[in-house]
Amino acid sequence: MVRGYPEVDFKRGECTFCGACAASCKDGALPRADAQALPWKTKARIAENCLARRGVECRVCGDPCAVAAIRFSPRLGGPPMPEVDEGSCTGCGACVAPCPVAAISIT
Ligand code: SF4
Ligand code: SF4
Repeated sequence: MVRGYPEVDFKRGECTFCGACAASCKDGALPRADAQALPWKTKARIAENCLARRGVECRVCGDPCAVAAIRFSPRLGGPPMPEVDEGSCTGCGACVAPCPVAAISIT
């Protein structure tokens, strides 16, 4: 909770966009005008403490992404670097918790 408002804690898991939270809120505080639309426009961001950016091989975040929005580009002299395809990323947060150094945020 932030200032009394509900928030999604991606450290505990991803949002499946099922709409159960909106459906269960009897006061209608979580309106869902378009059930097909994503509820937010935030995307996954990878911070500088990413292991691959520091020269350590890591592809942990790629596996949980259902839409393959995290791609690993080969590069000379270092491990492949993760890059988020913002056009594909849904902001579901499934990549957040598995990252061993908490380098991913949804913003
Ligand atoms: S899981 Fe974390 S440390 Fe590993 S490549 Fe992804 S962002 Fe980097
Ligand atoms: S937030 Fe979801 S869709 Fe975006 S990169 Fe992470 S797992 Fe993939």
